[in-house]
Amino acid sequence: METGGSDSCSTIPAKYRKQGQNRPPSGDALKEFSENIKDFGTCPACGGKIIKGRQGYGCSNWKAQDGGCRFVIWDLISGKKLTPANIRTLTGGKTTRKYVFKTPNGGKFRAKLKLEKNPSGRWETAMLERENY
Ligand SMILES: [Zn+2]
Repeated sequence: METGGSDSCSTIPAKYRKQGQNRPPSGDALKEFSENIKDFGTCPACGGKIIKGRQGYGCSNWKAQDGGCRFVIWDLISGKKLTPANIRTLTGGKTTRKYVFKTPNGGKFRAKLKLEKNPSGRWETAMLERENY
């Protein structure tokens, strides 16, 4: 049962909020903090580690001898560049907050992102609650 869920989805763990407060009030420091995230979570398909590739984030078990996992999250989706924090939200099975995306013909829309398994068993970054912007 989905009931909007804006509370449960956008909750930032208390420990991150605390760290932010203890840092000097500099936007750069916070940016650096989020850019330095190296743990992108766990592959929902096989439980492998998520690693950063050239065009997105993939599974450490991509090699055939490791199972040939094809799981991938593209880091650029309709004009929105996903941050490491976004990737962790997605691989954690959570929904992101609403972001603004661009359509190919210059329009804009807002949507939340969530990883979903499609009927053929492939994981996709789905757009939820899409609305015109
Ligand atoms: Zn995998």
